Amino acid sequence: MNADADAARRVEGLGRSLRRCVLCPQLCRVDRTAGERGFCGLGTEMVIHSALPHYGEEPPLSGTRGAGTIFFSSCNIRCVYCQNHQISHSPSGRAVSADQLAAVMLDLEAAGCHNVEPVTPTPHLPGIMAAFLTARRQGLRLPLVFNCGGYERARIVRLLDGMVDIYLPDFKYGLAEAGRNFSAAADYPRHALAALREMVRQVGDGLETVEGVATRGVLVRHLVLPGCGANSLAVLKLIREGVSASVPLSLMAQYTPVAAVQDHPLLGRRVSRAEYERVVNAALDMGFEEVITQEVDDRELTPDFARERPFAWDPAEQ
Ligand code: SF4
Repeated sequence: MNADADAARRVEGLGRSLRRCVLCPQLCRVDRTAGERGFCGLGTEMVIHSALPHYGEEPPLSGTRGAGTIFFSSCNIRCVYCQNHQISHSPSGRAVSADQLAAVMLDLEAAGCHNVEPVTPTPHLPGIMAAFLTARRQGLRLPLVFNCGGYERARIVRLLDGMVDIYLPDFKYGLAEAGRNFSAAADYPRHALAALREMVRQVGDGLETVEGVATRGVLVRHLVLPGCGANSLAVLKLIREGVSASVPLSLMAQYTPVAAVQDHPLLGRRVSRAEYERVVNAALDMGFEEVITQEVDDRELTPDFARERPFAWDPAEQ
C-alpha cells in the first residue's frame, strides 16, 4: 500500500471511531454519528470560529507571514482559566465540511502563511485529517501543525504518523492533582507524556527550521501558572527524564486571569517575574537546550473571540 492510500485508510478509521468515540482520554464511548454527545459536546460536524494568519505564535511558527491558524470550537479538557474560553467551552461556531475546511487551508496558503495550524484539533480530528488529505491532493504544500492541549491518546496520535509535520502540544500539568483541579483532565501527566513520546518517535525531538521558520519537529508549550511552581518543575522533570532534554520548550509567562478565576486563591493574579524566572532557570539547569521565553510584563495578550480578528495586537488591526 502506498503512503497516500495508507494515510487515507487511517483517516477513514478515525472517522469510524466517532461511532464509539475514544478520540481522547475522556473515553466517552458515545455514538457521535447517532447524535449522542460526549464531554466535548460535538457531533460529526467540525465547528470553527475563525481562520487567519496569526503573528503571535512563537517566532518559528509565525515567521514573517503568520501561522495559518484555524480556531476550532470546544475542547476536551476545558481549563477553568482558559484564555480562549469563549470558543473552547462550547461547541458553537460555524459548521464546516471536510471540503470546506480544505478550501480554508488552501486560502491560508494563498494568503502566504507558513503553515496550517488547527488549534484544539483533537475532537474534530477525523474531519481535519480528511480535509488535510483533500487539500494536499489539491496542491497544499504547507506543513501541518498539530496545536493541542496535550491531553491526547498515544494510540490516536500514532494514526497521524507521516501526516503531521510539527507537533505543538501543551504540557500543562506535571502533577495529576493540578489536572483534576484546573481542568477536566484525569491522569493528565501520564497521557501527556505518552502522547509526547509518540510525537517524538514520529518527528524527532528537535525543531527543524528553514530560514528561521519551522518545517518539522516538536515544540512543547508550558504556561507557567501563578503559585504553581511545583507543577511546572514536575513538567520539566517528566520531559527531561521521560523523553529528552533536546525537546524544545516554549515557557509562557502570559497567563492572565479571566473573569471566572478572578477570585481564585491561586489563579486570580498574573505570574510574577520571580516565579517565571525560577521555572526558566530550572529548565536551563536541567539541560534543556532550546527554551523560548516571554517577557513578564503587563501586556494584554488574551484574545477576544467576540471580534472578527481576536487579537488586538494583530498587524491587520493596526
Ligand atoms: S473527542 Fe469528545 S466525545 Fe470523543 S472521547 Fe473526547 S471528549 Fe469524548
